[in-house]
Amino acid sequence: MNNSYYNGLTGEIIMPCDEQYDEARQEYNRSIQKFPKVIVYCCSKTDVINAICWAQEKCFEIRIRSGGHNYEGYSVGDNVIVIDISRMNKLKLDRKRNILKIDGGVINSQIYELLGNEGYPFPSGTCPTVGAAGLTLGGGWGLSCRYFGLTCDNLLSLEIIDYEGNRIIANKNQNSDLFWACRGSGGGNFGVVTSMIFKVPEKVNKVCLIKLNCSNATKEMMSEFLCIWQNWLINLDERITVVSRLFNTKEEGKVIRGTGIFYGLPEEAFEIMNPFTDIEGMEICIEYITFLEAIEDIESVYPDSEKFKTTGRFVNRNYNDDEISNIVGLVQDRPQGSIISGLSLYALGGKVKDVNKFETAFYYRNAKYIIAIQSEWENPIYKEDNINWVKRKFKYLKSVTKGSYINFPYSNLKNYDKEYYGQNVCRLKEVNQKYDPCNVFKFPQSIN
Ligand SMILES: Cc1cc2nc3c(=O)[nH]c(=O)nc-3n(C[C@H](O)[C@H](O)[C@H](O)COP(=O)(O)OP(=O)(O)OC[C@H]3O[C@@H](n4cnc5c(N)ncnc54)[C@H](O)[C@@H]3O)c2cc1C
Repeated sequence: MNNSYYNGLTGEIIMPCDEQYDEARQEYNRSIQKFPKVIVYCCSKTDVINAICWAQEKCFEIRIRSGGHNYEGYSVGDNVIVIDISRMNKLKLDRKRNILKIDGGVINSQIYELLGNEGYPFPSGTCPTVGAAGLTLGGGWGLSCRYFGLTCDNLLSLEIIDYEGNRIIANKNQNSDLFWACRGSGGGNFGVVTSMIFKVPEKVNKVCLIKLNCSNATKEMMSEFLCIWQNWLINLDERITVVSRLFNTKEEGKVIRGTGIFYGLPEEAFEIMNPFTDIEGMEICIEYITFLEAIEDIESVYPDSEKFKTTGRFVNRNYNDDEISNIVGLVQDRPQGSIISGLSLYALGGKVKDVNKFETAFYYRNAKYIIAIQSEWENPIYKEDNINWVKRKFKYLKSVTKGSYINFPYSNLKNYDKEYYGQNVCRLKEVNQKYDPCNVFKFPQSIN
């Protein structure tokens, strides 16, 4: 490498012989077990540059990791070098300009805590330990997205280290093609993102945290819910975003759950949620609390790690009765060893839809919601049963949906680039050719 700053591998270097190796190679999804040659924890941009150059000198494939939450474990691999930037995790709020600057390794909870303590909301995801860079690069769905847009819609600028170790700034005015691509095409493709700048929404006093809960749900109740859900989303107030779950659980059997944030008063929230009270036994609980309190409540359900298979598809239309019956039929059984199997429905629309599908790389702007199918287990002996269950159910789900969400990737997806990027795929390939011409940044479902 002829980068003048290159100085061999620097940072904290973990090799297979090191005591920390077994922990350091783990992803959030513990069903992924990969064995990299080297893991380097970078503490500075220089460490990142050195790692990129060193990897090419030694002919190692690179994986970039920040929060380690990729469903399929694409931030790790066998015999690769993992460039881990989780130690680059400072953030700075410019209160005068309502601008937040984060390092590439910052996680959701850090942003929420910093902003929330000062009364600002922020449109990121629901899991506290997801990396903000990874999430934003893929779009970024969250419980404020219908009101403030996807996380990537609030991105103003980013800094990326390319395959030659050059520092590139991408925003509306500089390298705008790369900026376009980095808003929705997913992480790991063009280089290592070392920092991001976001606009921050205006302060809010309180929001409504909404919870839906219906125990002992039957197939008919789930059908009724899906029917109400899809009609409810039409002309829905953009101040509300909800995720709903149709779960079949080991502990409680079949349940319908939901969580939402509403930027308005509880009376209004109750009125908006009223259609769901038609379902027998449905409880709707609304708390009027600060944004930070709401987020901390939402975050509190996430464990430190899980074993799961999940993927998500975009829904563009309303389903007829037969289709609804088939969809909820998918979750009437559970695979052996599963603790939770089910469907999650992530509301879209509102501000997400206001952006044209060609304006950023996030193509499925017009979708009504994302439907995710998932199965989770504890004992590793049940891994194949659970993965095969998702595989079987996915066939039908794919036939009634259009396009997959890159942040909920699926390793078995054929023509993955078309599925993730729709008509934005050609432009993304051009951007990739320009910024990573030798495909230094590649992984099983990368753009190439
Ligand atoms: C429990 C859980 C909850 C989730 N909730 C949400 C949610 O509410 N909304 C949502 O939209 N998604 C959600 N996701 C999906 C999540 O957004 C994606 O998995 C995201 O890519 C994770 O980013 P990460 O940095 O944590 O993961 P990583 O595995 O570290 O990275 C994910 C991808 O981005 C790349 N990458 C990471 N950091 C960088 C960087 N600095 N520069 C360049 N490339 C990079 C990696 O190479 C990899 O390809 C969730 C995932 C999990 C497991």
